[in-house]
Amino acid sequence: MEKEKLALYREKLMELQESHLVEKKELEADYLHNSQKDESGDLSAYSLHPADMATDTYEKEKNIAILSNLSNTLITINEALYRIEQGSYGICEECRKEISDARLDAMPTACLCIECKTKKSNNKKNDR
Ligand SMILES: [Zn+2]
Repeated sequence: MEKEKLALYREKLMELQESHLVEKKELEADYLHNSQKDESGDLSAYSLHPADMATDTYEKEKNIAILSNLSNTLITINEALYRIEQGSYGICEECRKEISDARLDAMPTACLCIECKTKKSNNKKNDR
């Protein structure tokens, strides 16, 4: 891949990394803040309505799910940046062919070409 193109994807990935890190920090702060409120024993904030408690639990579980999603995405972004350093960025990990620009534009963290990706998801379906 040409250096100019690589630099462009690198920039894209760095931006993606930055925005994900910010989002993760906000969620973590939010989560911390909420659990501190729970432990403070402030009776005015205490609610015994089962519906409210269910909503709280649901919100927490949702936050944890989003956080783990964010962490996973950050890992794939790091891996993509590493591949740029190594010079293997844009090459399919399965068949070693070049991944199309269209796919990388839509998904800069892609490490498989569309054919291999499709094959993999089909295999997964067959496993079930
Ligand atoms: Zn492939």
